[in-house]
Amino acid sequence: MSTPEQIAEWRAKRYNGTVIHLRRPNPELMILRVRPDFPVPPHQPGQYCSLGLGYWEPRYPGCQEEDLAEGDESRLILRAYSISHPMLIDGQLPPPQNEWLEFYIVLVKFASDGGKAPGLTPRLFMLKEGERLKVGEKITGSFTLEGVQPTDTVLFLSTGTGEAPHNYMLWELLRRGHQGRILGACCVRYQRDLGYLATHRHLESMFPNYTYLTLTTREATSDGRKVYIQDLITSGQLEERLGLPLDPKTTHVFLCGNPKMIGVPTVDRETGERTYPQPTGVIEILEGRGFRCDDPRAKVRGNIHYEKYW
Ligand SMILES: Cc1cc2nc3c(=O)[nH]c(=O)nc-3n(C[C@H](O)[C@H](O)[C@H](O)COP(=O)(O)OP(=O)(O)OC[C@H]3O[C@@H](n4cnc5c(N)ncnc54)[C@H](O)[C@@H]3O)c2cc1C
Repeated sequence: MSTPEQIAEWRAKRYNGTVIHLRRPNPELMILRVRPDFPVPPHQPGQYCSLGLGYWEPRYPGCQEEDLAEGDESRLILRAYSISHPMLIDGQLPPPQNEWLEFYIVLVKFASDGGKAPGLTPRLFMLKEGERLKVGEKITGSFTLEGVQPTDTVLFLSTGTGEAPHNYMLWELLRRGHQGRILGACCVRYQRDLGYLATHRHLESMFPNYTYLTLTTREATSDGRKVYIQDLITSGQLEERLGLPLDPKTTHVFLCGNPKMIGVPTVDRETGERTYPQPTGVIEILEGRGFRCDDPRAKVRGNIHYEKYW
């Protein structure tokens, strides 16, 4: 059992960032801004860094019981987080700044596979403004706007907090005066899980080339059916709202969040044969229509880009 003095020492030694803003759209969702003690390194919209807290920190009530081994208590838990972005401040697209980073995080109370208790989010959800945490010094990732031309159609398809990197890329496109159509669609359980909804609605009214669609899987829809991102594409609704056919030559698709929505294929290196996972994900549907996903191992950039959260 650690003493308050030990904990104070671990925090002073290991933490290098301060929570300067925290908003909870609902008790299990947070948008937080963190100011690192070091200058924010140059990076691109869409990339990620890590956040961390010590196992010694308190945990949010009602989460899966944790079984710590001897010595764990002094260790740090680090996880990857995409960098989000406030798309509007006082009704305007905010100018670039390099003092803080915004994150959009959901509380994971239980491991979905019945495995080890979630380590970090039950602790992150105890944080208050002014408190300290660990911020990774490195910002990295290939989920970026590289290759997107000013007149291209851009689709941002996500589940839950998978919207985070899309928010940053959307801000960047709007700031650059992107001329092509931009459509964002996010699938969540309940409407209350859409932490940036009001901002997206405001942006739609400011930018005629931007459309934001929401899908809720646990709330009654008009026909009582669950609609996922995959259904949005196969039903033709996405193209209808876009007002354009999905043309692989002029469209970039960004997918982020739940790996089932994304559906990354495995590729046989010798034969090139692609095997898609079940249930059918967005990549399989779009590759059937002439798109091709990035292949980081072969260093090939396609027109479907993805970031899996687990
Ligand atoms: C590149 C990258 C960027 C990421 N960016 C974000 C982000 O911006 N916002 C965010 O909320 N998460 C993000 N994640 C997920 C994040 O790293 C953690 O896995 C997550 O916050 C859970 O951490 P944990 O320690 O509480 O639980 P862990 O011990 O890490 O995970 C326990 C289990 O929780 C499940 N899980 C993980 N993430 C989620 C989720 N979002 N929703 C439902 N179940 C989940 C998985 O089944 C996982 O095996 C990102 C992951 C990666 C790889």
